[in-house]
Amino acid sequence: MQYVFDFTEGSRDQRDLLGGKGANLAEMTSLGLPVPPGFTISTEACRTYLATGREPEGLADEVDRHLAGLEAQMGKRLGDATDPLLVSVRSGAKFSMPGMMDTVLNVGLTDISVSGLAAVAGDERFAWDSYRRLVQMFGKTVLGVDGERFDHALETRKKDRGAESDVDLTVDDLRDLVAEFKAIVRDAAGTEFPQDPRAQLDLAVRAVFESWNTERASIYRRQERIPDDLGTAVNIVAMVFGNLGAGSGTGVAFTRDPATGEQGVYGDYLPNAQGEDVVAGIRNTLALAELERLDKTSYDQLLDIMETLEKHYRDLCDIEFTIERGKLWMLQTRVGKRTAAAAFRIAGQLVDEGLIDEDEALARVTGAHLAQLMFPQFDPAADRTAIARGMAASPGAAVGKAAFDSATAVEWAQRGDDVILVRRETNPDDLRGMVASRGVLTSRGGKTSHAAVVARGMGRTCVVGVEALRVDPRAREFTTPDGARVVEGDVISIDGGTGEVFLGAVPVVPSAVVDALYGETEPPADGDTVRQEVVAAVLRLMRHADERRRMEVRANADTGEDARRARELGAAGIGLCRTEHMFLGARRKIVERVILARTAEQRDAGLDELRPLQRADFTEILEAMDGFPVTIRLLDPPLHEFLPDVTDLSVRVAVGDATGAPDAEAAALLAEVQRLHEQNPMLGMRGVRLGLVVPGLFQLQVRAIAEAAASLLERGLDPRPQIMVPLVAAVQELEAIRDMAEATVAEVAAETGAALRFPIGTMIELPRAAMTAHAIAEAAEFFSFGTNDLTQTTWGFSRDDVEATFFPAYLERGIFGVSPFESIDADGVGRLVSIAAWEGKETREDLELGVCGEHGGDPDSIHFFESIKLDYVSCSPFRVPVARLEAGRAAL
Ligand code: PEP
Ligand code: MG
Repeated sequence: MQYVFDFTEGSRDQRDLLGGKGANLAEMTSLGLPVPPGFTISTEACRTYLATGREPEGLADEVDRHLAGLEAQMGKRLGDATDPLLVSVRSGAKFSMPGMMDTVLNVGLTDISVSGLAAVAGDERFAWDSYRRLVQMFGKTVLGVDGERFDHALETRKKDRGAESDVDLTVDDLRDLVAEFKAIVRDAAGTEFPQDPRAQLDLAVRAVFESWNTERASIYRRQERIPDDLGTAVNIVAMVFGNLGAGSGTGVAFTRDPATGEQGVYGDYLPNAQGEDVVAGIRNTLALAELERLDKTSYDQLLDIMETLEKHYRDLCDIEFTIERGKLWMLQTRVGKRTAAAAFRIAGQLVDEGLIDEDEALARVTGAHLAQLMFPQFDPAADRTAIARGMAASPGAAVGKAAFDSATAVEWAQRGDDVILVRRETNPDDLRGMVASRGVLTSRGGKTSHAAVVARGMGRTCVVGVEALRVDPRAREFTTPDGARVVEGDVISIDGGTGEVFLGAVPVVPSAVVDALYGETEPPADGDTVRQEVVAAVLRLMRHADERRRMEVRANADTGEDARRARELGAAGIGLCRTEHMFLGARRKIVERVILARTAEQRDAGLDELRPLQRADFTEILEAMDGFPVTIRLLDPPLHEFLPDVTDLSVRVAVGDATGAPDAEAAALLAEVQRLHEQNPMLGMRGVRLGLVVPGLFQLQVRAIAEAAASLLERGLDPRPQIMVPLVAAVQELEAIRDMAEATVAEVAAETGAALRFPIGTMIELPRAAMTAHAIAEAAEFFSFGTNDLTQTTWGFSRDDVEATFFPAYLERGIFGVSPFESIDADGVGRLVSIAAWEGKETREDLELGVCGEHGGDPDSIHFFESIKLDYVSCSPFRVPVARLEAGRAAL
């Protein structure tokens, strides 16, 4: 096993082994760019160290050999008394983790070699400044001394001397500081600062290995979804010095502006400094363009190199460089991070420049980038301070008057006010209020709570689980522990991308990308070329994604309005029309009567009342999606959502009893409701179970669908309903509903003379359904994977509760990196999906396969669904463009 690689040995393709920095240093070396010589200790060595607590066998010998080679090349020995070689020891993982891990510069300086360095450089101040830095950095990162103590000593010295910045300190000051820093090390670490150069090197390497596991690095990885077991490489590089006086310096540069994608040279330069000064913001930097004035030769060379790098990497590069007495050195390059807007714009520019093709451009943007560009945002220039923070549940920037119940929200919205609905948590009765509001704010619940799921579905901005809010719906106000108080009607602003809550109206800027996606047209030329180019690039890559993708994208929509919006955003049909909301509000009473009916007459009267209403619902949706499939799911709410409230009934009964006028009706109703009460409604009488137990309910829906389709056909339209049965676990359930549905459709066909024939299929959202897919496909013409319930039932997690209870701990402990309700658990839930898809196809070759759970709009999940060759994904209307883009990327 080889653990150490010279920069002349590697290439940029070896990021797994050499880390990003090492691979790119090797690449630049082989391009002939001026990279200081050095070598890389592999991530493999780090992994072994982290697993065993010891350096792998043979590592020390390899380091000896490479160090000897480096010494020979430089003509100096590490830490030599008269002409010391100094090295930097730099971390560098596969994925860049800026500032998360450790680096030590000037390794090799000791009480003796500092004089040698001073003599060779002819600059005593420089030598002691370098030594001061080493003791400070080594003390902090290798020996774990609180960095504050060094900073404090440095600041005190500067103040005593009246020095404005570090460069104003004299040799004597620096010599004194070194002594002081060494004393701090002795005091805090209980050990002397090591005077053996090789021991310094070994300890620094070990510290870099260990920095992989610092808390901040772990947190960063979790956020960025970087695996925990990669480890970091360590780069040992011959030091070049930016702190050798005015002709030296150090800087960072970008080949394009990472904020806007604008072409040009961007960066900062700091004369007479070492790298960490720039990052730490210790002194004010100069704009890179100033370097032209200071050192034109180096500047021109830098520009040349930047062009070479951009052409070579065919992407935006960021660069760290140092100038040592007029000689330019490249210390690092990588493909640079960028904003969402810059990602699209640069991808478009590079295609225009002929550096990449459209496939490559598509690979370089993501659905997450697109989603960011689709939401209105708070004006970045606006002045604001958050009063509280919760979970960012559905992005966007919403401003409105706080309303504490749905009726008020609806009333105010009707009179034209913007409203934010504020609740402890929401339930299905809040739907109208949520529809009417600009945003939803709750003090409880997590990312899969009712509020979060519904708000995402509707594209409403939503912040949930803001625990600091004391919401008092009776007093119609909320307060925070810091003393903020918001009463009904006060204006607040919420940021669904960050989870922040603000007092007052923070200014909002709308999304030009959304406007353009609706019309598939570019915005008017108004001089804002950045926006113009970003939008043009989005549209261009969307078109390319549409050409590339194999999967269709449909929408989850249950109103005509949503269906129209989804269609404009590119949905080719509806993959899930939930019919629950069609039974709420005023209609709920009718459903209640149907469920609680004592006689067939009572029941049929209720059903007859519902039928025309349902027919109108379906007509509107089918019309909006004319010519495209519309998958209508028969009713699937937990039973209790349609029953009268137990507490209300109990009060009625008690009041009647107490006033000597017993309420017999209430008492009978209460008995019935108590009989039907369920401990676990989500595992109770929902979906197909309700359909089988309450006669006529599903039939009413099928009839309404058939009648709607017949009337549209008569008007010359092309309605394509598909009837979907929820929560099926056994083929027998599906067969019973199927028989009923076929008979009902045939009846309507006979009555109307229309040729009606609709596909009938099922949700696959229970493990048993997935495991018996062979049999279920006998009765189903399509499967739609309900991955919300399938996740809930496969893991045995309650989707409504987990985020508020143990998910935070699970995420913290890395049991999973992301909630399985957000991104498909490919190993478990995904495996069930793929088994069911496979077995279903075995039974029925033309079985249509789609997904309609929340995962249908999640980028990682979409890639998984492409890998198992589903026919479509269905997601909320607002996510349709994201799904189109990701389905295109997945097919590349
Ligand atoms: C599902 O379970 O994935 C699904 C789409 O149905 P619902 O979210 O309505 O339960
Ligand atoms: Mg479901």
